[in-house]
Amino acid sequence: MEPVGKDHPVIRKAWDRLQELGGISDESGRLTRVFLSQGSRRAAEKLSAWMREDGLDVCHDALGNVRGRRHGAEGGLPLVLGSHYDTVIDAGRYDGALGIIAAMAALDLMATQGKAITRPVDVLGFADEEGVRFHATYLGSRACTGTLGPALMEVRDANGMTVADAIRSEGWHEGAQDIVYRKGEVAAYLEIHIEQGRVLEETGQPLGVVFSICGQTRGRVTLRGRTEHAGTTPMPLRRDALAAAAECVLAVEAHAAGNAPLVATVGKLDVRPGAGNAVPGEACFTLDIRHPDDESRQKAVAAIKEACASISGRRQVAMDFMIVQESAAVACDPEWTERLIDSANSIGLGDVPVLSSGAGHDAVVFSEVAPVAMLFVRCLGGLSHHPDESITREDLAVAVRAAAACIEKWNRQAHEG
Ligand SMILES: [Zn+2]
Repeated sequence: MEPVGKDHPVIRKAWDRLQELGGISDESGRLTRVFLSQGSRRAAEKLSAWMREDGLDVCHDALGNVRGRRHGAEGGLPLVLGSHYDTVIDAGRYDGALGIIAAMAALDLMATQGKAITRPVDVLGFADEEGVRFHATYLGSRACTGTLGPALMEVRDANGMTVADAIRSEGWHEGAQDIVYRKGEVAAYLEIHIEQGRVLEETGQPLGVVFSICGQTRGRVTLRGRTEHAGTTPMPLRRDALAAAAECVLAVEAHAAGNAPLVATVGKLDVRPGAGNAVPGEACFTLDIRHPDDESRQKAVAAIKEACASISGRRQVAMDFMIVQESAAVACDPEWTERLIDSANSIGLGDVPVLSSGAGHDAVVFSEVAPVAMLFVRCLGGLSHHPDESITREDLAVAVRAAAACIEKWNRQAHEG
């Protein structure tokens, strides 16, 4: 059998599809596809057409989620492979799209090699993961897991339109049918995604397997000192909120630096009154704290809070430390993670890195209804959410082969077990 490298017809086709999909945009000159936009509809129609071309049984729902199913000879619970086709503003071509196209290519490869499938395999393309339009993430996969509840349906976009109204007036209703998987209706959910970090590049490995998707704490810290004249207030008498915040920002950085794999970020800082000739009376900053282990994350949040409180106390500014949002870490299924590692080994990869994911993915939502696993693919410089996002056709080939090997192993084990 000819080796499946970057020039194999299946890989070439998948690569061309990635490039073509990357050219479907809401804007000219850059890639942006937001929930229910014209560009999103064209992308969904294109994905459906490709799925049909590959011989899959295709359907879509009103949100624009698309599904291609390869029926298994023996029925049973489906294995679901998926990712999202919406993007951030001025995005790259691979974040999300890779997971859909590579999954299709894995099935395509098995078909061209005459490998039969005993149980159904579904490829899903989700209409929203990034949450650009409604600032609420995972709308697509939430609909597909029956967890898009009434509260989310009432969230509004910048024009005041709710999710419910947007689906009603802009949805893909023609021929739509619900695509919903409830607990116990899925064998597993598997997602292929670009790594978005630099670990694989640094270790020289094309693929990594994810053991956990980090839990997150988002917080807001407000420090209140005293606004005073910048010329007349002696230094020892000041209660400068910004100087205190600066010290807190460095404390946050130092704490994370000393507690890997913890990551903590202050990404936004607002200062009042924000005048060049006034001692800042108020400083408010955001916190983003992530760790693959929830207990460690909670400990870190407590330690950071204590450090900020101590700095505030010494500088005589009042502190308000608020947790805005928290999400628990998602552990990937050990059996599927092992199967992915075996699959990577079976195509000649040794020492496959086992990583945590610092970013959230549709797998987080699917973990509520099924065991989940993730395969990371090396991307250039770890760059994502950027037009220069880049992978190689060689790495695409490796990812497709590993995914196909994994589907095959599952088929065989399901058949035997
Ligand atoms: Zn993504």
